[in-house]
Amino acid sequence: LQSKLPRVGTTIFSTMSQLAQQHGAINLSQGFPDFNCPPALMDLVNEAMHAGHNQYAPSPGLPVLRQKISEKTQLLYGYLPHPDTEVTVTSGATEALFAAIAAVVHPGDEVMVLEPCYDSYVPAIELSGGVPVFVPLRFPDFSVDWQQVEDRLTQKTRLLIINSPHNPSGAVWQPTDLEALARLTQKFPFLILSDEVYEHMVFDGKPHLSLLTVPALAQRAFVVSSFGKTYHTTGWKVGYCIAPPALTAEFRKVHQYLTFSTATPFQHALASFLDNQEHYLTLPAFYQQKRDLFTQLLAPSKFELLPCPGTYFQLARYSKISSTPDVEFSKWLTKEAGVAVIPVSVFNHDGLDHGVIRFCFAKKEETLRAAAERLCLL
Ligand code: PMP
Ligand code: GLN
Repeated sequence: LQSKLPRVGTTIFSTMSQLAQQHGAINLSQGFPDFNCPPALMDLVNEAMHAGHNQYAPSPGLPVLRQKISEKTQLLYGYLPHPDTEVTVTSGATEALFAAIAAVVHPGDEVMVLEPCYDSYVPAIELSGGVPVFVPLRFPDFSVDWQQVEDRLTQKTRLLIINSPHNPSGAVWQPTDLEALARLTQKFPFLILSDEVYEHMVFDGKPHLSLLTVPALAQRAFVVSSFGKTYHTTGWKVGYCIAPPALTAEFRKVHQYLTFSTATPFQHALASFLDNQEHYLTLPAFYQQKRDLFTQLLAPSKFELLPCPGTYFQLARYSKISSTPDVEFSKWLTKEAGVAVIPVSVFNHDGLDHGVIRFCFAKKEETLRAAAERLCLL
């Protein structure tokens, strides 16, 4: 059988979580919280199930949930997507990313990705017959080199994929990034896929600069988010996509045959829970406190931490401990030091390795303390 994805193996997230389990290591690799979601949210799922909401939801998502997503979007970003024609509920952001790419990328189309990037983008591009065009983010601040982006854009660039706050680096866009992108849209006809799953994890009092805050950009964009990140429910796999009507129509054709619809009781529960603004408005402070604790705990270690303005990921250089490649170092750290992490080189198509690893700090204080204790011994 000729593989359609010859370069794809098991994802690093499965690999490292499995290795962590095998060696009893503290798992700071795959990004997920080790604490529970709000109990009231679980009660709402239970209530929805007992009320009989256990059959297929409408394919685009429950109307009440789409309505609540629209209202929240207007409140936060000043943009009111129409719930009937511009909002689609998906089975995680992963499905939304895949559906958006499949909806607009034709064989031979160029799709620009800024590297390092989340690992689901490129396989989705390749399955659609698209040609990924890689532009590196600047190291070590992971800012966008807009001149390079402009140099690599062509009239055949169908889609530009962006991600702020950024996995794996934690970098967040500045207002000048949105301005630079807006200027390029006047020269080239590309569409935009904006992965904003970490929208509620921007720190130090800064706002999240959603693409939806710029109407000219929103007009040509799919904007994707995930309830998994915001509500500590990565296992529920509920996300959504906001896009103008013409793009949403194409998006929904793919969504209809990819999953058709998303788990009904979760949608009911999330629709009710979205009224609780406090949860997401206090999320930046909640995660900033974890970032600050982890930073403080690692201060005496030999790891050199890079700035983390957003997400629940902390990058670190380990050159004072070892000069081995980051994949090898991550496996060694898991087996020998008992802390599992993610090597950042796997987010680059060519394995470019700066000797940097990623810690996930979406963990209980006791987990972070136990991990730091081990890491400070190195
Ligand atoms: N995009 C990025 C940047 C992510 O980090 C993740 C979660 N790992 C996703 C998309 C996928 O989100 P979901 O779990 O909702 O599918
Ligand atoms: N987004 C998570 C991360 O970056 C992993 C999601 C997954 O395991 N597919 O760690």
